[in-house]
Amino acid sequence: AHQAALAARSKENLRSPICCILGHVDTGKTKLLDKIRQTNVQEGEAGGITQQIGATYFPGEAIKQKTAVVNQDGKFELKVPGLLIIDTPGHESFSNLRSRGSSLCNIAILVVDIMHGLEPQTLESMKLLRDRKTPFIVALNKIDRLYGWKKVDNNGFQESLALQSRGVQNEFRNRLEQTKLAFSEQGFNAELFYENKSMARYVSLVPTSAHTGEGIPDMLKLILQLTQERMVGSLMYLSEVQATVLEVKAIEGFGMTIDVILSNGILREGDRIVVCGVEGAITTNIRALLTPAVMKELRVKSQYVHNKEVKAAMGVKISAPGLDGAIAGSRLLVVGPDDDEEDLEEEVEADLNKLFSRVSTSGRGVSVQASTLGSLEALLDFLKDCKIPVANVGIGPVFKRDVMQCGTMLEKSPDYAVMLCFDIKVDKEAQAYAEENGIKIFMADIIYHLFDSFTKHMEEQLEKKKEESKLLAVFPCVLNTVAVFNKTGPIVVGVDVVDGNLRVGTPIAAVRQLPTGGKEVVNLGRVSSIERDHKQIPICKKGQPSVAVKIEMGGSQPTYGRQLEETDMLYSLVSRASIDCLKEFYRKEVTNDEWSLIIKLKPLFDIN
Ligand code: GDP
Repeated sequence: AHQAALAARSKENLRSPICCILGHVDTGKTKLLDKIRQTNVQEGEAGGITQQIGATYFPGEAIKQKTAVVNQDGKFELKVPGLLIIDTPGHESFSNLRSRGSSLCNIAILVVDIMHGLEPQTLESMKLLRDRKTPFIVALNKIDRLYGWKKVDNNGFQESLALQSRGVQNEFRNRLEQTKLAFSEQGFNAELFYENKSMARYVSLVPTSAHTGEGIPDMLKLILQLTQERMVGSLMYLSEVQATVLEVKAIEGFGMTIDVILSNGILREGDRIVVCGVEGAITTNIRALLTPAVMKELRVKSQYVHNKEVKAAMGVKISAPGLDGAIAGSRLLVVGPDDDEEDLEEEVEADLNKLFSRVSTSGRGVSVQASTLGSLEALLDFLKDCKIPVANVGIGPVFKRDVMQCGTMLEKSPDYAVMLCFDIKVDKEAQAYAEENGIKIFMADIIYHLFDSFTKHMEEQLEKKKEESKLLAVFPCVLNTVAVFNKTGPIVVGVDVVDGNLRVGTPIAAVRQLPTGGKEVVNLGRVSSIERDHKQIPICKKGQPSVAVKIEMGGSQPTYGRQLEETDMLYSLVSRASIDCLKEFYRKEVTNDEWSLIIKLKPLFDIN
């Protein structure tokens, strides 16, 4: 009896885990969430599901009912009071649920479309989950789209699969194996959930359909099993407030409000709170703690109910004076009787300052701007992995002053005069200024796309510089003259390429020994055409049959028989600048043999 009492008490002391849904666009995140929330009329309403601010709460009773089909032996025992699922699926919510670098999201569902496999945002989600060490399961969604699938609404997956034809079962297995392989390529071991022997080592894949509801009972059960197995320790209810701002919104009648997920502790009306704002810490008093009114309360004028206090885990809207400029992703701290307000202000500001200080020490790099602390952090992490240097960091919409700041790069390092903007608006004036001054602004709501735009931009810059430096780039060659067809203006000679490759545009020189012991470089001009059998060709490679080469020069050209002789070897006229140019822009196009030839030519032209 004593033990039972202890167990009961500890259960009371557990709070509900917080769950986020992540995944690529159109995989069915929203639909899955709707389906879980949906009440099941025939089997009696799963009691007590409550709509909160930014989240839906599933009490133990509702979870029991929703998992009943896959718990007929009653072996699965619920140890947590309930489950809080964040209503806005996606990165944004996940990355904003943060506190001191760790995630307030206890568990996640990564949704993958079984017909599409892993997509760009799936990979991004996996990276976020890995970085934040968040346990997750995978919903392999849209199984009803397997050709020939016969549905049984809201069924457990194993039972449904057993009812399918051999063909459907085979297709399912194939896709499952493909998915497992794709996961292993990303460094995750994944297993079908009922074949998974170790939740700690393998990610569980749960096939689901958000349309038929199949597999959803399994998914819920698994989420709770995983939380209970892996993290009961971190679900102990604490009296210390742990809360984070998920959204900042103006609401008629309330002014600027913040939507907060309270993951631990109690918030009370009148509490003095500190959050991070764009202009520094905001310290204010909670005027109202709001939750949505349920249908029957709608006769109440407002769509919100006022609460005297709320207890974790809970999604709540806070109305308070002075919340303009509050930043989503910021921590929310409560000023206790023994707390120094300024200490707390410094603490919340530190979260922002830490991100602002993550700029390259060289002062060269792109400008980065994002909507929230969470997305800014995720973006900076991503750019770091891609080795893209960052010089300026900002939060909120892009204004002219941000573009001007970025513009300082035009002088220092023009390639980096680029703004990477994540999920924010760009002010008209800022846009116009950018266009006038040649500053690129890339906007996206998928981090990955920003990387793609930036990579493309860098390639274009390289292409432009290559084009500009085309005359400077000299590919090496050595030519043996076999005939002189025209002595000068223009020179036309028949040659064999004895080393390297001869290209149209290459400057040609002879190097003559002077009787005095020194040498003289005779510049013949540039190759304007290469012909073999009266056909123009762009390049003649070492060892290929002889070609006729026309060499032209702007000024007066040297003449065979005077400044040079038919017996003189001809060389591409390389220089320090031409070598540097090849190194910078044509590295991939220069072969090893060509590099060796360049090295051989260097002493000839006195290049060190
Ligand atoms: P989200 O962008 O990940 O939130 O995706 P949505 O929930 O908006 O779903 C995208 C599209 O896929 C919608 O047209 C859904 O009806 C469809 N969809 C979602 N889940 C399923 C599913 O399980 N089966 C089928 N056949 N379609 C689905």
